[in-house]
Amino acid sequence: MQENIIKESPFGIAQRQFDIAAELLNLDPGLRRVLRNCKRELMVHFPVVMDDGCLEVFTGYRVHHNTSRGPTKGGIRYHPDVTLDEVRALAMWMTWKCAVVGIPYGGAKGGVVCDPKKMSQQEIINLTRRYTTEITMMIGPDKDIPAPDVNTNPQTMAWIMDTYSMHHGYSVPAVVTGKPLSIGGSEGRFEATGRGVMLTTREALKRLGMPIEGATVAVQGFGNVGSISAYLLQDEGCKIIAVSDSQGGILNPLGLNARDVLRFKQETGTVVGYPEADVISNEEILDLECDILVPAALEGQITAEIAPRIRAKVIAEGANGPTTPEADDILFDKGIFLIPDILCNAGGVVVSYFEWVQDLQSFFWREKQINQELERIMMRSFDEVYSIGQEKGINMRLAAYVLGVRRVAEATMTRGIYP
Ligand code: NAD
Repeated sequence: MQENIIKESPFGIAQRQFDIAAELLNLDPGLRRVLRNCKRELMVHFPVVMDDGCLEVFTGYRVHHNTSRGPTKGGIRYHPDVTLDEVRALAMWMTWKCAVVGIPYGGAKGGVVCDPKKMSQQEIINLTRRYTTEITMMIGPDKDIPAPDVNTNPQTMAWIMDTYSMHHGYSVPAVVTGKPLSIGGSEGRFEATGRGVMLTTREALKRLGMPIEGATVAVQGFGNVGSISAYLLQDEGCKIIAVSDSQGGILNPLGLNARDVLRFKQETGTVVGYPEADVISNEEILDLECDILVPAALEGQITAEIAPRIRAKVIAEGANGPTTPEADDILFDKGIFLIPDILCNAGGVVVSYFEWVQDLQSFFWREKQINQELERIMMRSFDEVYSIGQEKGINMRLAAYVLGVRRVAEATMTRGIYP
């Protein structure tokens, strides 16, 4: 990952993206001021007892961007580079994403500055339980419902659900989504984000008249989103030629078996070293000759510097915020079809919504039903965004913003400004 890119402010980028849409929508200046800021921000510094008996102090955040359309929803990230600025951006993107796919949530996000790869399981449990306690006034099934993000997973959600439930004296499964099935998780949730990436990519190829059979794919970031996108695209007939993680990338123009690479990563901790593939750098993966590029790592990867070199025909944004606004313009001018994050990776929050509804009703659906409903919502949303893009002659990102921001603006004005 390039140093100069990480230093760009993600929230600055998120606000600039919003400003472009607000201008196109001719939004009232006062309403713009409301929507371009986050409603509520909590920063906590909390102690954790480490394995050697020492006390470490960690910093965490939980940010609510907007609650006009319902309680807030958004993941929790554990990463050494987490900042308040990044969490604000991710919270704002969640607001637009939930609106684009038409589910009744506002946007939130949380994060803890830590390196879980250097921590023991017990230290991660202690950190998770104490962080949950520190943000407990912000979360709740009617208020704000966290979910997994980078370096957090169903087990992390189980510890959050248990901690919150202990404080209340009874089990509250609907306080988080992305939980294990044994405690009120949903069928289909684990794969949902990757499934949404696959569905929107398949639809994009259809609209572009490109066959999916044999389409070549490069995936940056082989975690939950990247690996599942890869094997579901492979199931559709795509050829996965390159994947990468934080250690580096691997390339085999004849095709990699995505499930086998995933097994290798689960055993060794990285894709690097996978047999029958050449090692490539994380930057090289972005400008490979391929049909589909799936950035599925962190934000700020595709910049104005890299965009001119990109040779993919379709970019499917599995990650949140991987592309800067300047790069968007370059990609659009080059005729690259980009499926924006707030549409492309929304499958996760859609099935999180199903999980929350199931938990509230204590009535659980079958996987087939969940995947069908997910596909219906993703296809409807794709079609709405695509139609706005065609009508207005704008790129898919801006079209998705027009749809999402318009819905949030309408909800905000319909409710009125209190008091
Ligand atoms: P994860 O922790 O499961 O995986 C992240 C992967 O990215 C890891 O394999 C890591 O090694 C890799 N990575 C980190 N830095 C990298 C770099 N510089 N180059 C290449 N790879 C790198 O996280 P995830 O849940 O898959 O999230 C990935 C992205 O998708 C994030 O932007 C997240 O916000 C977004 N997202 C996640 C979900 C979800 O349901 N988990 C939903 C929507 C969006």
